[in-house]
Amino acid sequence: MTEKSLFLSGIDDLKNKITELGMPAFRANQIRDWIFKKFVFSFDEMTNLSVSDRKKLKEAYPKILPPVEKYEVDTEDNTGKAVIKLADGELVEAVAIPGEDSMTFCLSTQVGCAVNCAFCRTGKQGFKRNLSTEEIILQVMILVKKSGKKPTNIVFMGMGEPFLNRKALFEAIDILTDHNGLGLATRRITISTSGVVDGIRELAFRPGEVNLAVSLHVADNNSRNILVPMNRKYSLEVLREAISDYIAKTNRRVTLEVTLLKNVNDQYNDAMNLVRFCEGLLVHVNIVRFNKFKGSQYEQSPENNEKEFRKVLKKAGIPVTVRKSRGQEIMAACGQLAGKALKQ
Ligand code: SF4
Repeated sequence: MTEKSLFLSGIDDLKNKITELGMPAFRANQIRDWIFKKFVFSFDEMTNLSVSDRKKLKEAYPKILPPVEKYEVDTEDNTGKAVIKLADGELVEAVAIPGEDSMTFCLSTQVGCAVNCAFCRTGKQGFKRNLSTEEIILQVMILVKKSGKKPTNIVFMGMGEPFLNRKALFEAIDILTDHNGLGLATRRITISTSGVVDGIRELAFRPGEVNLAVSLHVADNNSRNILVPMNRKYSLEVLREAISDYIAKTNRRVTLEVTLLKNVNDQYNDAMNLVRFCEGLLVHVNIVRFNKFKGSQYEQSPENNEKEFRKVLKKAGIPVTVRKSRGQEIMAACGQLAGKALKQ
């Protein structure tokens, strides 16, 4: 990774650096256009810069993008997964999920994760460190380069708990939505949290329309303490209050994610607990199919249990959808990302 970052510099910052290198200030706009609009990451291909300026830039920024350890594409659904090698040798994963008219990038915010949700492969590797703002932005650039497409949507659902790395997360969002940068609309971005209440409260007061998803999974404290250990810090009551305040402040619908596990949280009483949790909240339940990985004790909920579960929610008037699992073949689906495991 470069010492001086091209990605983190605002346009004024970049202009200063460019003039320091003895180039006209307007070069900064040209460079940002190449990177953020045309996704060209090699100075040699920036054809409107003079050869001598390209040389100066190459010396100042020897590497624009870090090496990609591996990029795999699922032959079933074309989901692509990049394993990126960071400057300190750590590996982080980012996923490109093509849709009919969309391209969703799923980004990581940490190397590993301290939350250790019982059914998540990332959690099993423990927490290593937070990603920097630049390391978050670089995932986008690498996915554009590898998939050949710009993102229409970005979801922070990869490795790590985004709200435990809020400074870098919010800075990255500001860069991704900057008109001089990628210019993505804030409503095209979703942050998924295991229930970090401080983060939910901070997001509520930020400008823009970034979407909030909460990985709820189960709506009784005893079970959630096991499935999502974050619950021991922020109980369901505290979390519900934060969600309720968030909705009151933003008037935006919150997604509650529920990974259904066989005989763990897929029974009638689990559905009823969820109905009670949702009562009076502007929410939508997204059922996520469990993606099994080696060493996991859990099983995907049988189709019939899932159907009955949905029926209970629908009867109570709660909007519910089932998220199609993507990238299973390459271990890129929800809960399957684990850079370290791959390294081993
Ligand atoms: Fe961390 Fe998310 Fe995995 Fe939970 S589900 S351990 S918060 S990465």
